[in-house]
Amino acid sequence: MSAMWGVEIRRRTVRQTEYVCPRCGVDRIGSEFEPQRWFVIAKLPLIPLATMPNEIMCGDCGHRSDLGVLDIPTTAQLTNYLEIAVRCSIAFVVRSGRANAFDFNIDSSVVAHALAVMAADGHAYDEAQLRDDVANLDDDDARSSLGRLTRELTPHGKQRFLHRMASLAMSDGPMNVRERRALAEIGVALGMPAPHINGILAVAALDLESA
Ligand SMILES: [Zn+2]
Repeated sequence: MSAMWGVEIRRRTVRQTEYVCPRCGVDRIGSEFEPQRWFVIAKLPLIPLATMPNEIMCGDCGHRSDLGVLDIPTTAQLTNYLEIAVRCSIAFVVRSGRANAFDFNIDSSVVAHALAVMAADGHAYDEAQLRDDVANLDDDDARSSLGRLTRELTPHGKQRFLHRMASLAMSDGPMNVRERRALAEIGVALGMPAPHINGILAVAALDLESA
């Protein structure tokens, strides 16, 4: 008789989602489950017991993980994060180069350089979008979009990112104090150490002088 009584875990599917499976090491479709313990009699769930933390199971290898793995961006998410961070940073740098907040003029060399940065990454982008971004995004958007990349970009990737923004800032002449401050903030938001940031900005300034 007692053998018919017991506790069993049943898993209800909550949704399917793309994520990076830690075992496969690449983007996979996984099923998110809500595991629930049931008191069962003769295989029939009778009384629900504790609900356990949700978990996700890889559709390819069957590996189960806790939902912490969803914090790791998929390739598609990372591409979006990068594009947003580049756009926000371009707007940040362009805004910092203006004499005041009511100066709506953007130097044509700055426009051309900004569009070239976006095109080099394969993003369609035009002057109207740039003007929209400069008007509508704020400095905090740049900081938070960059913050998402601190763990994802390699030190070399961060260095390249900052160097590109520095050459954008200097496309209409030497960097001014506000541009330098904005660039330093971009480096800090990416999690770069201060000496490294200063070194990159110094090299970028030298490159411009010798160009
Ligand atoms: Zn897997």
